Amino acid sequence: DPSKSKYHPVVDACWAAGAPVPYLALARTLELIEGTSARLKIVDILSNYLRSVIALTPEDLLPSIYMCLNQLAPAYHSLELGIAETYLMKAIGQCTGRSVAQVKSAAARSGDLGRAAELARATQRTMFAPAPLTTRRVFHALRDVARMTGHASVNKKINKIQSLYVACRQSEARYLIRSLEGKLRIGLAEQSVLQALALATATTPPDPDGVKILDASKGLSTEQFKARVDEHALIIKTTYCECPNYESIISVVLQHGVAALPRHCRLTPGVPLKPMLAHPTKGVTEIFDRFEKEQFTCEWKYDGERAQIHVPGDDKPDLTEASIFSRNQENNTSKYPDILRRLPELLKDTVHSCVLDCEAVAYDTETKQILPFQILSTRKRKDAAEADIKVQVCVFVFDLLYFNGEPLVNQPLLRRRELLREHFREKEGSWQFATSADCSGVEEVQQFLDAAVRGSCEGLMVKALSGPNARYDIARRSHNWLKLKKDYLEGVGDTIDVVVIGAYSGRGKRAGAFGGFLLACYDPHSEEYQSLCKIGTGFSDEDLATLTATLNEHIIDAPRSYYRYDASHAPDAWVSARCVWEVRCADLSLSPSHRAAAGLVHADKGISLRFPRFIRVRDDKGPEQATSAQQIAEMYLAQDQVKNTAKNDKKSN
Ligand code: ATP
Repeated sequence: DPSKSKYHPVVDACWAAGAPVPYLALARTLELIEGTSARLKIVDILSNYLRSVIALTPEDLLPSIYMCLNQLAPAYHSLELGIAETYLMKAIGQCTGRSVAQVKSAAARSGDLGRAAELARATQRTMFAPAPLTTRRVFHALRDVARMTGHASVNKKINKIQSLYVACRQSEARYLIRSLEGKLRIGLAEQSVLQALALATATTPPDPDGVKILDASKGLSTEQFKARVDEHALIIKTTYCECPNYESIISVVLQHGVAALPRHCRLTPGVPLKPMLAHPTKGVTEIFDRFEKEQFTCEWKYDGERAQIHVPGDDKPDLTEASIFSRNQENNTSKYPDILRRLPELLKDTVHSCVLDCEAVAYDTETKQILPFQILSTRKRKDAAEADIKVQVCVFVFDLLYFNGEPLVNQPLLRRRELLREHFREKEGSWQFATSADCSGVEEVQQFLDAAVRGSCEGLMVKALSGPNARYDIARRSHNWLKLKKDYLEGVGDTIDVVVIGAYSGRGKRAGAFGGFLLACYDPHSEEYQSLCKIGTGFSDEDLATLTATLNEHIIDAPRSYYRYDASHAPDAWVSARCVWEVRCADLSLSPSHRAAAGLVHADKGISLRFPRFIRVRDDKGPEQATSAQQIAEMYLAQDQVKNTAKNDKKSN
């Protein structure tokens, strides 16, 4: 029982040293976590389980961590589960002698297919009990299932799933099915997993030499032990940002210990980092409030697609191994053969290896004009042959994150920019440095913003230039980068990225296609999609036809158990949460029926968007990177009207 307060990693584990970790041990841990809401307790429970794994079967540490995160490989390998519910129902039905309709109604009753699967398994007798599942077997089977592609693979997948399902005991079935659905829904955030790993390694350090220390906290004062845990957590979390690859991290932790991580797992060309993100602002004065005492710089904000360009190499760049990653760490190398071919124009002889942060923008080479994002979105997304490329791009380079074997993320932007300008070359229409100005007054920023808009940009990015705040905050939405978009200065400050969860049939001349949609934001804490608004404007007929075709591929029979919506908004078709769209709105208001951010600013009311308009599809964002419930709440509260009302309320009280 890993929720015990004085847990002993060997005595309290349910398996013997060297034996594969039973899947039941993991499932039981997930079950305890699901039943707990206090974050510290969750970290404790998970760290106790991990301590047993480290002490008894360290080779199962990697599958254990991956399974807690419901991840199968580094995010940039794009290996994901998310098996259609109907297939899972079929598998469950066939194993338990039920029809798909029966399984479906059981799932509707419990609101969760995982629980329905667990119940069905519990009441079923088997003649020969299959061998108990192990964590590694389930992990490898999930990987196999995710790798199977094509129509012919459906039956193979179902067979594989059945072979696991029939062997499930107790809550194993619940988590197996949820893993396959693509959502564990136990309220376990990645940061908590990293914290649990820190606590586990600080208490029960892995022992490459076979010296077992089961409880290293003995003999330390509470403060000393806490300091050690904090130190481990800092190392593990920073390393994960630079090198988001559990395979490397876990292998170093087991072989050399946590302290060795910074030496072994560093930012490496070929492993994409999560990008630094910006906070929205609504006006030039907000910038001066933030950067009152600090040096900052303004750059044009180009409207294209983020491109993280990686060039490995020792004493010279290895251009055959160069790659380009999206904002979402997807590999876009085969989308941009033209950019790769032009790399030698950019790199001076002094460059051996680098990682560049850039924006690829559609460009008219004749008129030397930046073209709108809509044009870029017509480019083929994979395996583009250079001869067929019609939309040319110019790459605007705005940051240098790694140079000649050294990560630069902890250097201030001023230094990174110096190195960029010294060792890289511009070529008009092909490679350009982001236009920048180190403005000093409100007037200057305003003029620079106007110039950016005239230059076909979306607005400005305002960045800390020197001092500790000017480092590159990997994976953070940081106040050290502010975005100032031209259109939203008066409104809500930014556009919103929403997930489509349902669609309404079109009427009149739009009959035959969808004409309206139910949109949601994502709440990472509850792992739910919460309805935000209905939308029916901003679409051309052509948009509706293509969007209908895409959504038709994702139609599901019933809403997922992790959709929060009001019955009055039930759409004609539910779709699985896949497609992310960018929308703008007039403002955000409290809503009795929409569920977005419910509980965050008002006990029962949610927030909804007023007058939403469709802008574009965001292929470069996954559903979990849509605007979060927390951000929606922040945007709602930041509105002048809301702020003024709050002030007046205070006064009148
Ligand atoms: P968010 O999650 O912040 O909404 P987003 O992908 O929607 O992210 P924006 O809010 O539009 O992006 O702003 C940040 C994006 O602007 C970057 O991800 C990058 O693609 C783009 N960009 C264009 N020019 C620059 C620049 N000079 N510096 C940084 N980013 C830039």
